[in-house]
Amino acid sequence: RKLEQDLRHALGAGEFEVHYQPIINIETRRKVAMEALVRWRHPVYGLIRPDEFIPLAEETGLINALGEWVLQQACRDASRWPLAVRVSVNLSPVQFQNSDLAGQVARILAETRLPAKRLELEITESVLLHYTDENIGVLHRLRDLGVSIALDDFGIGYSSLTYLRTFPFDKIKIDRSFVSEMPQMDVCAAIVCAVANLGRSLDIVTTAEGVETEQQFDLLRAAGCTQAQGYLFGRPCPVAELDFDDAIPKRSAGIEKNHALTARDVMLVRTSFSLVVPIQDTVSSLFYGRLFAIAPNLRRLFSEDITDQKRKLMAVLSSCVGRLHDFPALAPVVRELGARHVGYGAKREHYASVAQALLWALEKGLGDLFTFEVRSAWIKVYDLLAAAMQAGAEEIETERAVS
Ligand code: C2E
Ligand code: MG
Ligand code: MG
Repeated sequence: RKLEQDLRHALGAGEFEVHYQPIINIETRRKVAMEALVRWRHPVYGLIRPDEFIPLAEETGLINALGEWVLQQACRDASRWPLAVRVSVNLSPVQFQNSDLAGQVARILAETRLPAKRLELEITESVLLHYTDENIGVLHRLRDLGVSIALDDFGIGYSSLTYLRTFPFDKIKIDRSFVSEMPQMDVCAAIVCAVANLGRSLDIVTTAEGVETEQQFDLLRAAGCTQAQGYLFGRPCPVAELDFDDAIPKRSAGIEKNHALTARDVMLVRTSFSLVVPIQDTVSSLFYGRLFAIAPNLRRLFSEDITDQKRKLMAVLSSCVGRLHDFPALAPVVRELGARHVGYGAKREHYASVAQALLWALEKGLGDLFTFEVRSAWIKVYDLLAAAMQAGAEEIETERAVS
């Protein structure tokens, strides 16, 4: 009861704070969004986490005023961030009892001048458990504003696939419990893979929550998840401490050893590539189409007519794949290629876009044959080739700097 009394005047007393945690794109490791997570700085008990007071705020109805305040604060903060970074705000099912929720969001967007497409609202499936029709109506009105809607904590609770049918979610957030056990439990890895595939088929972004280790991250990338969030990339922190800088570097040492190709990797890449050869025109068209869609600034590095380029791409892939079994012999050739690419204007950050487009094209081309294992093998091969190319690029850049 004491906490309840304190909670009643906490909002007026300015005791709440919004902290933010980065969400990154798995291919580029760049920050694409920040999730707003509320904190209560209690004068006696110190910083209290939401799990301890949100249920109380929901019971007492205080969540309505608190939720509105968080939304205002988050939109105001986000309006000062780089345009490419969105903000994600959690909504309680209780807030859906306010039939004017969409009106409230629209007013806040207007007041803070945040474009609707930079706001994402996270709901849990409990919103769809009761008053389903009314709540789906509210969700549609929110989406009509241009705001995106994410389904949070996916996989725990009822997780009925019906939810994905009743509302066109923009994003699924895979619950932390599956991600944290991925390296030890094949069942969790299989579930995460299946959800990532589901997301791809339905054209829904998948975000893995609670990523704490590089090992988990590698598995998520192989599974084909789109985004990741977790302590590995940053803990929730006050707005003043946010850092929007470049991609988050890989931390683990000894990557080379980890990524050494096994005979099985070589076999998987070879057999899958042999299936690409007969449909190489389709796959290379898919590749360039995707590449220029995700990195439009790369278009000008290529000649107008891409036909010749498609042939070159296949030739390079084919000669690399053919010599993978003897990587030490292949490496100098690839380094040389990397050095030549500097002359064409290739930059370090382009490698992530190329990886993204390549995996996408292979998957579209090979369909079900592009399994988790095949994808992992391609990722390993690509990382090795890209590292060799970058080493070649650096050599030539240092040489030029010296001369
Ligand atoms: P959520 O929306 O699923 O948020 C993710 C939670 O996981 C956050 O906990 C975050 O700090 C934690 N987390 C993130 N990465 C990691 C990790 O790598 N390892 C571990 N162990 N934990 C990680 P937090 O901030 O305590 O929030 C808990 C829940 O409270 C949130 O879960 C959300 O459902 C709710 N919540 C937070 N802010 C609000 C709000 O403004 N409104 C409403 N309605 N609910 C909120
Ligand atoms: Mg959330
Ligand atoms: Mg969650």
